[in-house]
This record gives sequence, structure tokens and C-alpha cells, in this order.
Amino acid sequence: MSDMDSLFLRIIDREVPAEIVRENDRVIAIRDINPQAPTHVLVIPKQRYRNAAELAAADPQLLAELFTTAREIAESEGIDESGYRLLFNTNADAGQTIFHVHMHLLGGEWLGGMTG
Ligand code: 5GP
Repeated sequence: MSDMDSLFLRIIDREVPAEIVRENDRVIAIRDINPQAPTHVLVIPKQRYRNAAELAAADPQLLAELFTTAREIAESEGIDESGYRLLFNTNADAGQTIFHVHMHLLGGEWLGGMTG
């Protein structure tokens, strides 16, 4: 596992600082260090899977919990009505840089359309 791929484990273990938005036994949510929108939170299962495909195959209930957590954060950030985007970058062509699955939650401004 590369240093980048273990970053979230080190954040979970409090070896690396991060702004934690939510946490329970299974999931941690942190603010992205390089936000692409006024709200940019990463929702991360504590158990490491390389990407969303691995997580979906291994533990669909945990995958569903990421969505539930994102909904709760969107509400507490006050962006549930205005709108937000949830996405997983999966492998190289999508620009995945950390191979510990994480959902991006983006919102707080017009994010642009996906189809131009
Ligand atoms: P990916 O490109 O793998 O989908 O997303 C990785 C995300 O992790 C990027 O948005 C990047 O800004 C974020 N990131 C990288 N290093 C750190 C860090 O040390 N702390 C936090 N909170 N986010 C990070």
C-alpha cells in the first residue's frame, strides 16, 4: 500500500490531522484539503477497499451507509434543498489518487451540468 493509499487510515488513527465532520464505528467524513466547492467532504468507510467497485461487491450495506451519511451531512451543511453532487472517482482514468474508497460530497454553489 502506498503512503497516499494509507492516508485515510492514518487520519482515522489520528496520526494525520483532518477536519472531521462525522464519525462512527464504520464511517468517517472529513473536509477535503483542496476543496472544489464551498462544501467538499469525503465520506470514507473505515475498512479499506480500493475503490467503489470493491466496496459494492464486498459490503453493499456499508456502501449504502456512505449515502445515508452524505444525506445527513448535506442537511447539516444546509445544502440538501439547493443541491449537491455525490461521486466516486474509480481508478486511473477518473483521476482516483487515493486507493481507499471515498465518496466526494460537493455543493454550496452551482456545480455545472454533466452534459454541457
Ligand atoms: P480522488 O482523486 O482519489 O478521488 O480524491 C482524493 C481527494 O483527497 C482529493 O480531492 C484531495 O484533495 C484529497 N486529499 C489529498 N490529501 C489530503 C489530505 O491530506 N487531507 C484531506 N483532508 N484531503 C486530502
